[in-house]
Amino acid sequence: MGAILPPNSPGIPRWGLPPWTIDFHSEQQGLPEEVDFAVVGGGFTGLTAAAWLRHSEPSKRVALFECSRIGAGSSGHTGGMALSETAAGSLPGLGDVLAGFSGILRELAVQCDLTLPGALEVGRQGVMPDSPITWNDSGALGVTREVPGGTIDPGKMLSGLAQAASKRGAVIFENAPAEHLSLEEFPVLTIHGTPVRARSALLATNAESLELSGLAGRAQPKLTMAVATEPLSTEQIASLGLAQRKPFYTVDLPYLWGRVFHENRLIFGSGLVHLNDWRELLTLDVAEGRAAELLADLERRVRHSHPALRTVGLSHRWGGPILIADNWEPVFRRHAEHRNVIVLGAYSGHGVALSVYLGAWAAEAMLGKRDLPQWAVLHWTHSPLRSAEGRQRRRAGPGSGYERADPRGYEDEVNFQAVAQGSPPGKGREPDRLAPCCIASSVRCARRHDFYDADAALAAQYGLSLSARWPSVYRSWWRIQAIVNGKESSSRPFGT
Ligand SMILES: Cc1cc2nc3c(=O)[nH]c(=O)nc-3n(C[C@H](O)[C@H](O)[C@H](O)COP(=O)(O)OP(=O)(O)OC[C@H]3O[C@@H](n4cnc5c(N)ncnc54)[C@H](O)[C@@H]3O)c2cc1C
Repeated sequence: MGAILPPNSPGIPRWGLPPWTIDFHSEQQGLPEEVDFAVVGGGFTGLTAAAWLRHSEPSKRVALFECSRIGAGSSGHTGGMALSETAAGSLPGLGDVLAGFSGILRELAVQCDLTLPGALEVGRQGVMPDSPITWNDSGALGVTREVPGGTIDPGKMLSGLAQAASKRGAVIFENAPAEHLSLEEFPVLTIHGTPVRARSALLATNAESLELSGLAGRAQPKLTMAVATEPLSTEQIASLGLAQRKPFYTVDLPYLWGRVFHENRLIFGSGLVHLNDWRELLTLDVAEGRAAELLADLERRVRHSHPALRTVGLSHRWGGPILIADNWEPVFRRHAEHRNVIVLGAYSGHGVALSVYLGAWAAEAMLGKRDLPQWAVLHWTHSPLRSAEGRQRRRAGPGSGYERADPRGYEDEVNFQAVAQGSPPGKGREPDRLAPCCIASSVRCARRHDFYDADAALAAQYGLSLSARWPSVYRSWWRIQAIVNGKESSSRPFGT
């Protein structure tokens, strides 16, 4: 198994720069021949795992290898909203993510301005009468529900986790790409051509190096966009309904999330750049192409959403990678060919709290103190949707509707049909009225990205209303539902 090296050039802000700094640099050290535990990836997941391994077992040799710099991936380009559960909702055996997250940060003495005042779900229907938010973005937007959540400073969390790992004796190697993993009696990583043997390894490389993690073809890498405003006055923040500094995200489309950051800057995010191969991330420049278009669109939306934002300056524009796996469920599993290698990631843009919570869990699993969570085990061993045979059957099955599928949209079609048939795993039945719409409203509609970018107002013209409900009630992208408003559904795809 080999991994193609990300040719990341440290210091070159290809994806743009967010408004925080990462205050950590590893010391130059010689590569070890052997360690007890090797962690690949210096984002929230890998750093937490490395810190937690040494926190739990101070005598074990722990090394973390990051191909670029700490926070070079999603974690350094995130939005920093700490949310509960997963992008697919709560999963069997998951536990309380936010309580675990806070507890781990406390235990590791990581200071990252964590506050958990709650998070606001905003939408265009079912707005609370006393909604503090009254904005306009493809219709009037207001608060529909408050849920547990809050924010962190991502720069401080990365620096704090790296310092926690380092102080406890984990050795962090930056500019140290894992080029290859061979699965002998023990896993052996090749770093700069040098083999490093480990008793056990964690692959926390998220949207990159998908061959190394075994996720190539099984999860979709994307780039998603964000902007930060110049500082606003306290009065402007209050008039926007954000005086309590609660982060927010829309529960219908088009998707928008946001939060207040230091100095009363607002951060907003939305949009996905779709990629055929994770290597496109390595050359992608947010000043060009689709990423630049999405940033311009986001800027336009922000300015038109509220009078207080009409003339606000934007100080930062950036994007970052996310990885979306089947059903939007995080991947947490043992490597198919080696029990001592764990793969963790693919949080589908919902990984700030989850990466820390599951990173510590992975450390405990590597130490043999804890099993992998129930959902993760079920997910990878029992789901017929994931077996080659299952896929084939669904593709060809008479009357299944899959024969109409555009092969590129096939996976999404399968998932969408699962919704249509009322069988989302672990969530009970969906209303039957969804079925005719899901099937009739064209194969192209069933592809996730058509929904993601779809405009709710446009969909309404076709007699449909879209409900993303993400990361809310249904949480999972494939459960995005097109609901027929008592009419025949159109066969015309949205967004065209
Ligand atoms: C714009 C944006 C906004 C977001 N907003 C939120 C939010 O508000 N709330 C939320 O919950 N989630 C959010 N997310 C998602 C969240 O940031 C991620 O889920 C989380 O940071 C993932 O952490 P990670 O450590 O698993 O991955 P990453 O941070 O991507 O870390 C993986 C690391 O592995 C390294 N690597 C890759 N290949 C190799 C190799 N071969 N050898 C060595 N190192 C390698 C990379 O350089 C990278 O540093 C957002 C993401 C983006 C991009």
